[in-house]
Amino acid sequence: MRSFYVTTAIPYVNAEPHLGFALELVQADVLARYHRLCGDDTWFLTGTDENSLTNVLAAERAGVPVSSLVDRNAAVFRALTGVLNVSHDDFIRTSAEARHREGARALWRACAAAGDIYRQHYRGLYCIRCERFYATDELVDGACPEHLSVPEVVEEENYFFRLSRYAGRLAELLDSGALRVAPESRHREVRAFVAGGLTDFSISRTLARARGWGIGVPDDPDQVMYVWFDALANYVTALGYGGDAERLSRHWLDNPHRVHVIGKDIVRFHAVYWPAMLLSAGLPLPSRILVHGFLTREGRRMSKTLGTGVDPIALVGDWGVDAVRYWLLREVPASDDADYTEAGFARVYTADLANDLGNLVQRTVSLLHRARDGVVRSGALDAPSPLASAVAAVPDALQRGLGEGWDPRRALDAIFAVVSAGNRRVEETKPWVLLRAEREGDVEAGRRLDATL
Ligand SMILES: [Zn+2]
Repeated sequence: MRSFYVTTAIPYVNAEPHLGFALELVQADVLARYHRLCGDDTWFLTGTDENSLTNVLAAERAGVPVSSLVDRNAAVFRALTGVLNVSHDDFIRTSAEARHREGARALWRACAAAGDIYRQHYRGLYCIRCERFYATDELVDGACPEHLSVPEVVEEENYFFRLSRYAGRLAELLDSGALRVAPESRHREVRAFVAGGLTDFSISRTLARARGWGIGVPDDPDQVMYVWFDALANYVTALGYGGDAERLSRHWLDNPHRVHVIGKDIVRFHAVYWPAMLLSAGLPLPSRILVHGFLTREGRRMSKTLGTGVDPIALVGDWGVDAVRYWLLREVPASDDADYTEAGFARVYTADLANDLGNLVQRTVSLLHRARDGVVRSGALDAPSPLASAVAAVPDALQRGLGEGWDPRRALDAIFAVVSAGNRRVEETKPWVLLRAEREGDVEAGRRLDATL
């Protein structure tokens, strides 16, 4: 049996989940379900990233303790997995669980033991909402390019991670394909970034600036870990890193298929920082990083404050979970941006699901009940026929779309080719005519009806 491990990124919980995160959950879920169907030893992890300073600020504004705020918001994200019928095996919360806290500290110690962590005075421009430092030339008119807000000047003693040491190794791993980023354009982007040389980055902040929130640095009561250092660690702490090693061995150390599904805004963290941390700690790297694009609404960036957000829970309430999952896989390219419009959603729902698939299921099931009490008598599909060829093409298309490659639309093309061929078959064989003939004593018509049903 092959092994397969897949994760989503863990979202900040300071805002309600939006449709873009639903996309990521559903993409990862499809991979997990496909590999389980193939008989692979599959493990699917999701969770929430809770140690961000943005949570502290949101809790201050709301006048509640940070832990209550993250408990409440994490529950919304957990509920979303249920609403979307996501088949995750584990859900990790980075602020609430000892396994994560201890695992993140163990990872820190391993990097420190490798000589990759040192203390240094630092002054930089920090965007709190991104939770990262920016170089002056990365800013747009002096503001964060993501949030358009002016970053604050932060000056303090921090711990740094010796990222500069790993540029050569990362370049080799990217070139050999041991570390693969999909799509290829993202892979080239990462490769070019690494070729430009890597700068050490700060992996802690003072306890005072963190307002006491976060995971403490081992053996230093005045510093907490930079939220990304602990957040990235979730992919191994959830498997027991720093504690019980059985699951870690099974799904990370001894499993060559370690897949992260992420958004395009956090590629550098996953394809550069995280692999370097793993190299430092002597752990295997992710084998594939699948990068999806962003969703817009009527051409505008989804934002609650702009009123352009789409609530995935409300959408499921309106259309049903399978329709929402279908739209996310059918209309959103695996790695490009896509636009959500109500009219577009309704069109796909009506054309593909209500008409094509719905008609086929309705006609088949109702006739099967009317003619055969709901029991299929003949399992054999008479070949060759367009329907038989469409069915025969499915496993290969799924393998290309969901196994070695990543293109769920390609998999759906093959499945809907079966739907079209099935509908054509019903129209050509006219099983209701066969049923009438059979009832009038035509045995051959009855045989053909069984084959069709
Ligand atoms: Zn920002």
